[in-house]
Amino acid sequence: MRSKNHRKSIKQNQSNIEVLFLSDGVEDSEIRKIQYATSELFRYFKLKSKIEYVGSVWSLLDQKSLQNVSYKLVRIRVTNWSKQTVHDFVSPAEINFELKKIRGEINPFGIIYDGFLFCGIIFEFLPTDLKSSRILPVVITNRQIATFGEDGRYHIRIGVFSVPSIISTNGFFSAPAKPVEYHLTKMVSEDVALIKAEDLKNYIYKNIPIFARAYILEALLWNNLGVPFCSSPRCFLSDSHTTDELISTKKGKIFLCDMHKDALEHLRS
Ligand SMILES: [Zn+2]
Repeated sequence: MRSKNHRKSIKQNQSNIEVLFLSDGVEDSEIRKIQYATSELFRYFKLKSKIEYVGSVWSLLDQKSLQNVSYKLVRIRVTNWSKQTVHDFVSPAEINFELKKIRGEINPFGIIYDGFLFCGIIFEFLPTDLKSSRILPVVITNRQIATFGEDGRYHIRIGVFSVPSIISTNGFFSAPAKPVEYHLTKMVSEDVALIKAEDLKNYIYKNIPIFARAYILEALLWNNLGVPFCSSPRCFLSDSHTTDELISTKKGKIFLCDMHKDALEHLRS
C-alpha cells in the first residue's frame, strides 16, 4: 500500500506529525473535507504535519480475511447496554450483513459496536509502519460506536482514541445530549420534535468536518502526550456532552484552556 519513497519521506521528516485517514462506509468526498479542515486547523496552530487519505480500511485485506473480520464484527456488537460481552454465537446471515456493510451495500444505522474492540480488530491487520508513534491512523466510520463507562453502562461516542483512532460520523448527532427545547417539544408533539431533530441533524452533518478536526487534534494529544479532553465549557478541546456544547466550542472562534495551550506547545516542539 505504501511506497518505499513514502517511507523515506517519513524518515527525512522525523519531526513532522503524520495523520493518515482510512474510511469505513464514509464517502471519499466527506473524508476529503475532513482532511482539508484538519490541515487548515494544524496550519492555524503552526503544527508541522502531513495529512493523507489512504482509502478504505478494508482494502488492506484480501477476501478470506474480510470473511474473518466480518465474523469478528458481529461478535463485538453491543446488544446489552449494561453488560460488556463478546458474542459466542454468530449466524451466517449476520456475517453476510457485515460483508455487505464492508462493501458499502448496507448502512449499519441502528447497530452499535464496542469502540475499543473495533480498534482492536483493525489494529491486528494495520501494517507495522502505520503503528509508528509519529503516525496517527484515523478510521472515519459511519458505524455507531460505544464504550463501556465507569457507571457500568455503554455510552455512544464520537471518537475512540487508540491505534487506530476512530471517529464516528453518526456519533456527532447521536452521542451528545440534545437541547432542552427538543425534549420539551417532544413532550408536546412527537412530530414537531422530529422536525426539529431533522433540522438539527442536517446542521450537525453539514458541519462534521469542522467538528471532526477538534477530535483528530485531541486524538494526537492523547496518543502522543497522554493529554485528555478538558471539562472547560469554553475550550475547543473539551468533551462535548451536549449538541449545544459541541457547536459552541468546536465551531467559530477557537478558545483553548491553559492545559491545552501547553499541550500544543509540546506537540510543536
Ligand atoms: Zn481544554
